[in-house]
Amino acid sequence: MSKSFYLETFGCQMNVVDSERIVALLNDIDYRQVDQPEAADLILLNTCSVRDKAERKVFGHLGRFKPLKDRRPSLIIGVGGCVAQQEGERFLDKVPYLDLVFGTHNIHKLPAMVRQAEIGRGQIQETEFLDRETRLSLFPERSEGDSCTRFVTVMQGCDNFCSYCIVPHVRGREVSRPSGEIVREVRELAQMGVREITLIGQNVNSYGGKEADEIGFAELLRRVHDVEGVERIRFTTSHPKDLSDELIDCFGELPKLCSHLQLPVQAGSDRILKQMNRGYTRGQYLAKVDRLKQVCPDIRLTTDLIVGFPGETEEDFRQTLDVVRQVRYADAYTFLYSPRPGTAAAAFDNPVSQMEKQRWFDELLEVQTAIGRDIWAGDVGSTLEVLVEGESRQKGGQLFGRSVWGRIVNFDGDPALIGSLVEVRINRSLRNSQQGELVTAAAV
Ligand code: SF4
Repeated sequence: MSKSFYLETFGCQMNVVDSERIVALLNDIDYRQVDQPEAADLILLNTCSVRDKAERKVFGHLGRFKPLKDRRPSLIIGVGGCVAQQEGERFLDKVPYLDLVFGTHNIHKLPAMVRQAEIGRGQIQETEFLDRETRLSLFPERSEGDSCTRFVTVMQGCDNFCSYCIVPHVRGREVSRPSGEIVREVRELAQMGVREITLIGQNVNSYGGKEADEIGFAELLRRVHDVEGVERIRFTTSHPKDLSDELIDCFGELPKLCSHLQLPVQAGSDRILKQMNRGYTRGQYLAKVDRLKQVCPDIRLTTDLIVGFPGETEEDFRQTLDVVRQVRYADAYTFLYSPRPGTAAAAFDNPVSQMEKQRWFDELLEVQTAIGRDIWAGDVGSTLEVLVEGESRQKGGQLFGRSVWGRIVNFDGDPALIGSLVEVRINRSLRNSQQGELVTAAAV
């Protein structure tokens, strides 16, 4: 008889992809996914330690599962992802009712770990980092799922060591998957009806840079662009220092490449960028943005911003605000700085007071929200190309899809349209989505 599992995913798209892999591996050993932890034989949390808040959430959620374990000792509870990698054995000490801890390089071992836990082998931990060759051999051959949009992992890890970031410490060094394998996967997905591909990696646009005889990211984009059946291409997450002129030109040359780019700036002051070890100056960043806008005038940029980095002054913060006003981001993920243990910045002096941080954060949010509202409201009355992804969860009879800029668009339509490109006239722009009406059901 098959068993059931409940899975919660925290954090970024890399974790979403890892969770897809976890689902596939568990399906292979006859575990079926359920929506409620109460109905599960196995509960897993795929965790993120990039932000302090996400990490605290993990411990909060685990506490919620303790009464279930008390009532049903055969229930298996496991934790994977970045917090698991970071904490390792300490996790098992901190949470004594935990059965499994698996790190970011050990997802492939999960079926064997679950089998051991089923026969009561005690607490099991697998958090070792693997060597490059083993990691390359373990890239999943095909992304899982049944949507017309898919993530395809092209690289993993990061060598940048931004001073505030835990990723290189918990995901390991950068490795790029062979381009031939990536293109083959994209081709297979296209044959299965997938229309939109998002190439992902912690530092996606440094793809190939550390591998002898491998192509660069711009050439990879061109090869993916050549695959018949693929209608849209996106990529994330990009590092500004690796945004080459050749890559910028792709936005003008490749019609399938969506005119949206997530380009994390983090701060607008050179002094703080240096402290963050970001590898670019404000001037270099703004020059790249100018070039992007020249090559692709309708491009929309989104970004990540950190406020309250150690030593940040009012003047530094004003420079961040100034960049936000100059670039006019369509959206921004804004964060209050919090030190991550194990990173260089955790040892920096001059912490910014909570009150100051919060004041800057509120002001930044106000400025950015107004800019974003303006940009998205500007779409009202225009007709946009939308890739229909599914039925809307919010309102019966509605479909949802995304414009080239990645914004969710909801509209009334026939579910037979799922998987096709349609034209939708935008009637309303809401906080995180848009409402529209179908203009033509014919594929664009
Ligand atoms: S580029 Fe910097 S912020 Fe991004 S994952 Fe690497 S170290 Fe972290």
